[in-house]
Amino acid sequence: MHALFITLGCAKNEVDTDRMRALLAADGFEEALAVSDADVAIVNTCSFLETATSESIECTLELADEIARGVRGVPIIMCGCVPSRYGGELADELPEVAAFVRHDEEDGIVQVVRHVLGIDRTPCLPPHVLRTVEGASAFLKISEGCNRFCSFCAIPYIRGRYCSRPLDELLDEARALLEGGVRELVLIGQDTGIWGSDFAPKRTLADLLRALDEVARPFGAWIRVLYLQPEGMTDELIAAIRDLPSVLPYIDIPIQHCSKRLLKAMNRSGSPEELHTLFDRLRSEIPGMVLRSTAMAGFPGETDAEADELASFLQKEGFDYCSVFAFSPEDGTRAAKLPDQVPDDVKLERTQRLIDIAEQEGFSSTASHIGEVVDVIIDGVDDTDDGAELIGHCWFQAPDSDGVVHIEQGEATVGDIVRVELVDSFCYELVGRIVDA
Ligand code: SF4
Repeated sequence: MHALFITLGCAKNEVDTDRMRALLAADGFEEALAVSDADVAIVNTCSFLETATSESIECTLELADEIARGVRGVPIIMCGCVPSRYGGELADELPEVAAFVRHDEEDGIVQVVRHVLGIDRTPCLPPHVLRTVEGASAFLKISEGCNRFCSFCAIPYIRGRYCSRPLDELLDEARALLEGGVRELVLIGQDTGIWGSDFAPKRTLADLLRALDEVARPFGAWIRVLYLQPEGMTDELIAAIRDLPSVLPYIDIPIQHCSKRLLKAMNRSGSPEELHTLFDRLRSEIPGMVLRSTAMAGFPGETDAEADELASFLQKEGFDYCSVFAFSPEDGTRAAKLPDQVPDDVKLERTQRLIDIAEQEGFSSTASHIGEVVDVIIDGVDDTDDGAELIGHCWFQAPDSDGVVHIEQGEATVGDIVRVELVDSFCYELVGRIVDA
């Protein structure tokens, strides 16, 4: 039996797909690379924004269409955020789908697959199923859900309340990934900074980083933390990021906005002064600090002056990387019902202006590394007009989010960490050549 997996959305979904893939592999299923070879198709969906929901549904319908044009039926199972968000409404709307699996039901994927395929043998699962990972970096999901309830965000309704994964489980998973060849652990979750706050007694992300550092150090592996929140940056955490050898001086802190009034309306906190003080402190206390952030244009009620304020803030902070989104009124969120929604054309104009600033700052930050000799993890090989080229990333490039290093000269294999001299850049990409260690 073969299962086809299609994963949409963020890295957290990729981790969930990896787990379902491992559960099915443990039950004897092999992976199909095309629907023509599949006995069942599993679509892991995203519903963070309305556009992501539409893309997930379109992808499912295209798949159903492809199956209908084929020679045999392949049941489709829809997993993840769309079923978690829309639940019972979906069965009538999407008769093409054989089963819907919420994110918190995904550990039962084997039973669901067996049910839709009419296999009634009791599944025999090993007690602990490790993730399957290709390449040299792995996402380590340290928590699920979110308690913050930002007024624009549906995630707490889709993924539920914050729940940290136990320390021992994370250390076991990290050890297994590293023993399997992984050279970088990327810590993800909706709100990584409060990991352990739901334990009794409470633990902190700094505790987790210290424990992971012990595990990663013998492998020479890197640890990177994504999705921190400004309020989560404690003295203890800053010291851990600065002092632990495996932890990279790379921090991802979404700000969304800087206006005090709008942050309050978003059910977030902060002001331009507080945010600036935080970023200033991070840059002065952590040598080489690289900062990634996220900003949102066109939140309801955003005035021209507040849009200017955010643009000036991004210019002043000069983030190394900054993703920009236009506000999207998501079903069931408070912000969707707020008055003074910003017209779409104004939102797009403000979004483009922020993207231009983010790119200007980000491209120049990338170019500032030309001439450096850095460690690069080799991720794969790309075919180019001039032949095959090695692709990797260095410490200031988060996999799947930032640019990569194109290696024009030298030989290595996937998973190697090599010394590379950076000789050129274009946009967020760098060009380098391998030098002797
Ligand atoms: S912190 Fe805010 S934006 Fe991020 S997942 Fe939680 S509610 Fe959503």
